[in-house]
Amino acid sequence: MRTRHGDISHGDTIRFPKMEPAPRPEWASPIEIGVHARSFFSALPEQPTREVLQALHSDPELLAFLKRHAIGRLEFSGQVPKANWLGTYAADSRDLVVNSFRSAETYGREFYPPELPSVSAAGRNLVQAMQRSLYHEIGHHILERLPAQVLDQVAAQCRSRQASPVSIRARKNPLEYFSETFAAYRFEDSLADKDPAGYYMIEAILRLAWKK
Ligand SMILES: [Zn+2]
Repeated sequence: MRTRHGDISHGDTIRFPKMEPAPRPEWASPIEIGVHARSFFSALPEQPTREVLQALHSDPELLAFLKRHAIGRLEFSGQVPKANWLGTYAADSRDLVVNSFRSAETYGREFYPPELPSVSAAGRNLVQAMQRSLYHEIGHHILERLPAQVLDQVAAQCRSRQASPVSIRARKNPLEYFSETFAAYRFEDSLADKDPAGYYMIEAILRLAWKK
């Protein structure tokens, strides 16, 4: 099932003071602590924090998946290895960070795969860019929970001439191909035209992932 994210209109230039992330379980909805994630931290104020997570409200199947396979620590902060990293996912701890202090030059781009650095760059503002990066990192989490043969299939498709990767990042390796295509599946209606093989790959893998 495809769902569109809500329309969130922040000014394109909105920036927030860089703060340390603090535990914010009360802002995490629809993420429930102890159910979908072990903990939730944000370095952003309440409103943008809630707006980023708004994307998950219309995604009951993903929430059900996270109930079966919880994330570790979910965090919106600048605590990424390098300032230009958009997010991280650690397979062992299942901890997931989305960079909440990325520069305004990293989003607001047209969804034009040959020149698009990442699917998140096509978000119109910080909140949308973070929503896309959140889905990208959750994509890593989903793939990690599935049988290894699934990754082999993604790798085979990634190498095939059928694939038309949705971004420059999607060309990097099979993991990035999957996560980028997963983010595009969620946020870009034109994915089925831009990378039809990728679109059907995501549908097939999600059918598997969403099974109880
Ligand atoms: Zn990635």
